[in-house]
Amino acid sequence: MAQDPLVVHAIINGEQVPTKRRYARENPANPEEIVGYGPLNTQEEAIRAIEAANEAFPTWAATGLDERIERMRRAIAQLKEKTPELAQLLSREHGKALYDAEGEFGISIMWMEYACDTVKDVLQDQDQVQEHDNGKTIITSDAIGVVSAITPWSYPFSLSTIKVAPALLAGNTVVLKPSPFAPLAVTKTMEIISKEFPPGVLNMVHGEAEVGVELTSHPKVAKIAFTGGTNTAKHIMKAAADTIKHMTLELGGNDAAIILPDFDVNDERDLRRLVISNFLTAGQICMLAKRVYVHRSIFDQFIDNYVVAANQWIRVGDPFNPKVTVGPVNNKRQMEYVQSLIDDAKKRGAKVIELGTVLDEELFEKGYFMRPTLVLGAGYDDPIVVEEQFGPTVPILPYDDEEQAIQLANHSIYGLTSSVWGDPEHAIRVARRIEAGTTMINTAAVQGLDVRFPFGGVKQSGIGREYGAEGLRSYVETHVINVPKHLDLPYIPE
Ligand code: NAD
Repeated sequence: MAQDPLVVHAIINGEQVPTKRRYARENPANPEEIVGYGPLNTQEEAIRAIEAANEAFPTWAATGLDERIERMRRAIAQLKEKTPELAQLLSREHGKALYDAEGEFGISIMWMEYACDTVKDVLQDQDQVQEHDNGKTIITSDAIGVVSAITPWSYPFSLSTIKVAPALLAGNTVVLKPSPFAPLAVTKTMEIISKEFPPGVLNMVHGEAEVGVELTSHPKVAKIAFTGGTNTAKHIMKAAADTIKHMTLELGGNDAAIILPDFDVNDERDLRRLVISNFLTAGQICMLAKRVYVHRSIFDQFIDNYVVAANQWIRVGDPFNPKVTVGPVNNKRQMEYVQSLIDDAKKRGAKVIELGTVLDEELFEKGYFMRPTLVLGAGYDDPIVVEEQFGPTVPILPYDDEEQAIQLANHSIYGLTSSVWGDPEHAIRVARRIEAGTTMINTAAVQGLDVRFPFGGVKQSGIGREYGAEGLRSYVETHVINVPKHLDLPYIPE
């Protein structure tokens, strides 16, 4: 049912700041419906947010860790209470099915709680005084300063809280910029969090590249925490170069799944897990199995059984229909891009097989829906295989031996996650040779994610890690205070 459009504002120095310019966010399942409006902030407003964060920084950095944790826990308690309504809003503006939006909130809260539970150990284990033969050394973990957090539309809630929680707990202040393709639920979330912190500690501005450039080049920004496309990251690195900013980059991926000859093609649960790792969130997650390589000895049987499993799990339609597992694609540009890759594959002679069922035919015609597809017979170097599709389609290709499978998996500019399916010990041996930040055994994508361990990419999939202790440590600098007993070095002449 359509609702009145929601209007959200920038948050600067603890205030919601109305702005004249705004953009509309439509419902991808029914683009005639405007879900809400976000502000189109100016460069000047971005600067005000950075100045507010910079002003707030010294006091916030000096605030005790207990108080920081306490404030974050109060915010988490409210987010838990508000999860049902925030998840509905996210589903409506994003297009992801409601269970999927709720799952995103669940995993994010799990991370925020983990960060609160562990931050003392992670940061204070470095806050030590060491007495040694040459006096004393004190090592502290200091906050870095103002953090610009820039996020994409795919997982707006997770990818903001993954940055905001550790940044604030570690004593930094933040300016967050969400993507205009899913700005509403994340803004309501940040309104809740920011109220629990002193003015200026958590700020938020909206917009595209103009605001993005300010957030990544301003001299008072000390660190950039960015999740998004690899090409955007290249602009960001250039913008940040003049002031040598700290950087965590979580970028694109084209994750390979290798199906070993000892994979049990009759295991329905394994096949279902693989299907989910291809099509969850309509294929729009950085860490999905985006190309699948199957040993030729089991290829035909695998494909038959995969199609059965996919047809059972994939039910496309209204994100609010509880039977639906796959909603629309988030935006028209993305839909057209994915379709262009499929059309190109067809032109090159590939066979494209439609999967699953469509439950809400009328809506399907109106919205940015795509029928999920399996692509067979594509070449190893075809765009559908080597590009990040970020949509509901997956190429499955045969391979002949293990060396070839490993070579194909590593034949990519990306290295975010990957998966190996088959006998676990055999799979681990293969996994060790894959170039990726994470490799999962007999599962993939968010199904195999564990917030207690670091997550990030190698090669052009990124720099640095989020989640786990590393995800917390990436928001501090190590500061060494030396108090030597022997003050004068013997080899320096009097
Ligand atoms: P995008 O790179 O187009 O946009 C990401 C963010 O950057 C948005 O907020 C956008 O407004 C902003 N932006 C655009 N130009 C900018 C500039 N010049 N300076 C600063 N900011 C700028 O990405 P997208 O289309 O929103 O998201 C999809 C991409 O994100 C995919 O490639 C996907 O793999 C990647 N992603 C990666 C991860 C990960 O953890 N590695 C997670 C989710 C998504």
